[in-house]
Amino acid sequence: MITRESLMDDLHRIGVSKGDVLYVSADLSRIFFDERSSTIFPQLSAREIVDLLLFVVGDKGTLVAPAFTSSNFGVFGNANLFFNGKTLSTSGVLSNEMLTHPDHMRSNHPTHSFVAIGAVSEQLLHGHSCQSETYLPVRKMIRYNAKQIRIGTMNTTPGFVTVHFAEQTLLLDKLVIFPWLNNVYIKINGNLKLFRTKSRGLCSKQQWRLFSYYVKSEILSVGRIGCAYSILSSMSEAYDIEKDVLLNDKTLLICKNVVCVSCNARRWDRLHRMPLWIIIKIIKKILRLH
Ligand SMILES: [Zn+2]
Repeated sequence: MITRESLMDDLHRIGVSKGDVLYVSADLSRIFFDERSSTIFPQLSAREIVDLLLFVVGDKGTLVAPAFTSSNFGVFGNANLFFNGKTLSTSGVLSNEMLTHPDHMRSNHPTHSFVAIGAVSEQLLHGHSCQSETYLPVRKMIRYNAKQIRIGTMNTTPGFVTVHFAEQTLLLDKLVIFPWLNNVYIKINGNLKLFRTKSRGLCSKQQWRLFSYYVKSEILSVGRIGCAYSILSSMSEAYDIEKDVLLNDKTLLICKNVVCVSCNARRWDRLHRMPLWIIIKIIKKILRLH
């Protein structure tokens, strides 16, 4: 059985403590699904998991999660797509559950908002808006010695959020061709205004390549939360490694997928790949038509 108590023990064992600022990315369904024996255990609700995480970090701790939202791609905006602070997050069940919690705070960035509950929520999220840098709360969490945990998401999105922040501080985000093509409407003083993205993260599919560096530096704590394979690190330790590695090799995270738009059609240093990407896209479209 997976119970509230057993999950609490799992969280303590991997390194979560009272007073932590804890940044969480999680696939909640994997906590209760044992892939090796195909066993599905009775599940706690998403609210019960949020309450459990809040209990483990305690009154002086803070729980943070991404609450990212969709953007439109194109020269002009899509009037049906806008961010108003209540917009559903694309970051998963945990984030959306946190957004319904009576004590939650959400930052105002139109595409990369964060949600937080706890002692330093205000300090972490204040000033994060369409005017600020995209990953401002990550900068602040590093200052607060935050920990980041990934619960059951290693086979889908293996990287830490600090990687995108490292890309931003190294100005690698400037390699993205016309980031403003990603846009979304926001409501300011009752009027709709088009927000155009200033900075986008690069492709994240190859972020697992950073894991050899984490392991070598012994910064990872690994374990299972319920059945979910999970990792935890200090945000500042992960960020220091990512910054050093990416400074020495700006192409490390480029993937080999010939149809990846980020790596083949939206990087200034990969412009030579664009013709092939366009040809492949056209062929795929023609094949789908027949
Ligand atoms: Zn890619």
